[in-house]
Order: sequence, then structure tokens, then C-alpha cells
Amino acid sequence: MASYAVTLIPGDGIGPEVAEATRRVLDATGVAFDWDVHDAGIEAVEKHGDVLPASTIESIQKNGVGLKGPITTPIGGGFRSVNVALRQALGLYANLRPGRTIRGVQSRFDDVDLVIVRENLEGMYSGIEFDTGTADAAAVIQEINARSPRQVASDAAISIKLITPAESRRIVQFAFDYARANGRRKVTAVHKANIMKFTDGLFLRMAQEVASGYPDIQFNDRIVDNMCMQLMQKPEEYDVLVMPNLYGDIVSDLVAGMVGGLGVAPSGNIGPDVAVFEPIHGSAPSHAGKNEANPAAMILSGALMLRHLGEQQAAEQVERAVALVIERGERVTYDLRADRDASQASGTSGMADAIIQALDAR
Ligand code: NAD
Repeated sequence: MASYAVTLIPGDGIGPEVAEATRRVLDATGVAFDWDVHDAGIEAVEKHGDVLPASTIESIQKNGVGLKGPITTPIGGGFRSVNVALRQALGLYANLRPGRTIRGVQSRFDDVDLVIVRENLEGMYSGIEFDTGTADAAAVIQEINARSPRQVASDAAISIKLITPAESRRIVQFAFDYARANGRRKVTAVHKANIMKFTDGLFLRMAQEVASGYPDIQFNDRIVDNMCMQLMQKPEEYDVLVMPNLYGDIVSDLVAGMVGGLGVAPSGNIGPDVAVFEPIHGSAPSHAGKNEANPAAMILSGALMLRHLGEQQAAEQVERAVALVIERGERVTYDLRADRDASQASGTSGMADAIIQALDAR
């Protein structure tokens, strides 16, 4: 049987532990993998002098698919986010975040089944910023003040929000194609076009244009603040939500909270040529090296990767096994226990063992 070459980036903090748990579960499905392990983050700086070594990027480009653990991003100074750099370097324009209720995970909502599609490369995350008091900021402010009735203070810091027709069309198309391929009924475009008339207005117009090509899928749109309120009140009315970068960043965490939080939330970053799957949680430094982190989010990211590879049956098998182990509630990490009693909980590797044993359960 042919094997899938996959770039595995264990990451740092709890990353190596949840990555190892995931590798064992995926290997146990019977799908053959050829793991190509690479560094990124702090360790990569120590070993290669670069936070995101060219060899890591090249490996993902060669293999077409990557599975990544979390990576610490120091706040303020230090290196810039490896995650943002990876998305830009590989053109991973779509961030896919399913948010589905798993029975046994404590949450305030029942039966949530939503998919967030976040535009990953532009919007307020374009990376074009000018710091307060710099000559570049002063030049930009001068230009704005010459052209806009709204005058900007000379000590303002500036971020540029970019929305392009091509990227808007591409991300909405991704959402519709995903909906069609996965039996979803509806796509909602989320925006703030009432206030940001040009940028979000453009996104909305492109969404409406793309939607007209998918008559089999319902389409509507919501203003992002109203969207957040409606998700709290009637999440069952929504299905696939597509939105610009910053709204996607926030709304997808909101939805992760609705289904029980970071420990069970997977994601995929998808581009035209390659895709990288990762849990949405961070490196949780206080749990690192203690065999106590919950591996479910990374294992479920592995299931998303299996779907991407066309291994639907194995993906369902993994998702079912994770759900079963969590529902039984006996061999789960501390964060999934109602009493959060670490002394009674399974460790990262113990929960992975339980999931492997549950793979064959019907
Ligand atoms: P975090 O997700 O690491 O932790 C938030 C809280 O959730 C903490 O209490 C943590 O202990 C807990 N937690 C997270 N994952 C868990 C798991 N699998 N099992 C049990 N508990 C878990 O977020 P943070 O503290 O804001 O960030 C820590 C570092 O991770 C930062 O440097 C941040 O930049 C980075 N980060 C990386 C990624 C990524 O690589 N994709 C994503 C988010 C944050």
C-alpha cells in the first residue's frame, strides 16, 4: 500500500507530546504515513538560526501536506508569529475550523455544528503596520490628512486593512465548495459592510457574486456583531460561516468556546497546492513535559488531514474514537473531567492509548 508523506512539525511546549499522541493514533488507523519531522519556532532558532527554516517550508511544499503542533510566539519583541509566516510563505489562504459538539465535553450549548472559514492572508492581518512616532507613520498620516476629511493625530499607530476582489472571491468559493462537498446546506458571509463600506463592502459584493453560482446552497449575510449575538441565541440557524481574517480569528474562538474550548478544537490551513493542519490551542507552557495535555484537538486535526487526503473512512473512525473516549469520560485528561481532578485523570499518552483501543469500536 502506498504511504502518505507528511511533514510533521511537533512544535514546542506541549506540542511534542500531543504530536506524538497524534502520530500513534493516525498510524493505528492502518493508513500508512511516512512522517518527515521538521522544526519551527524556538528550537529551530537554536538549531538552524531561523524560526521557520527553509527546509521546513520545502518539506511541506514537497509533501503537499503538513501536521503541526503549537509554537510559542513571544508577545511584543522576539520573533514574529511562525503561524502567520507559514500561512504567507505557503499561500494558505483558507483557515477551516469546524466547531461541533462532542458529547461528554462540558459546554453551555448542545448540538452545535458549525464550520468557520476564515480568510487567512489579508484583512487586518496583512502585516502592513507603522509604529507610533516613526517617519513612515508620519508620511502615511500626512498622506491621509491630505486626502481625507477625517484628520489623523500625528502620533497615531497605523494598521492597513487590505481586501481584494480576487482573495474575497477565492475564500467564498472555498466555503461554497466545502459546503457542497460535505453536504452542508447554507453559507453565511460575515462582515461589517455597513461601516467599512469599501473593504467589507467589496467582500460582501464578491460573496453575493460567488453565491449566485451555487443555487443548490442557501446564502445569506450577517454583520459580525449581530452574528456573535445570533450564535449565542440560535446557532442551529447557521452552518458554514465565511469571513475576513480578523472576524474569523475572533468568531472561530467564540465557536470553539461553544463546543467546549481549546482542548477539542482542530483546524486546517489550506492553499491551492498544500495544506497544514493544527490544533487551535497554543503551546500551554505550564503543562509542557508533564504528560497531562489533552491531545484531542491535534488528533482531530489529524482527522481533518485524513479527510483532505481522501481517507474519509479513517477520518470518521478517528472522530468516532475520540468522541467515544470523551463520552465514556474514564480515560481522559484532567481538563475533560467534570471535577478537573488531575490525580484521577489519564495522561496525554494514556488518552491516546484509549483512543487507539476505541478505533475499532462500532
Ligand atoms: P494556550 O492555548 O497555550 O493556553 C490557554 C489555556 O488553555 C491555558 O490554561 C492552557 O493550559 C490551556 N490549554 C491549551 N491547550 C491545552 C491542551 N491541549 N490541554 C490542556 N490544556 C490546554 O494559549 P496561550 O497561553 O495564550 O498561548 C501560549 C503560547 O502559545 C503563546 O506563545 C502563543 O502565542 C502560542 N500560540 C500558538 C498557537 C499555534 O502555534 N497555532 C496558537 C495559539 C497560541
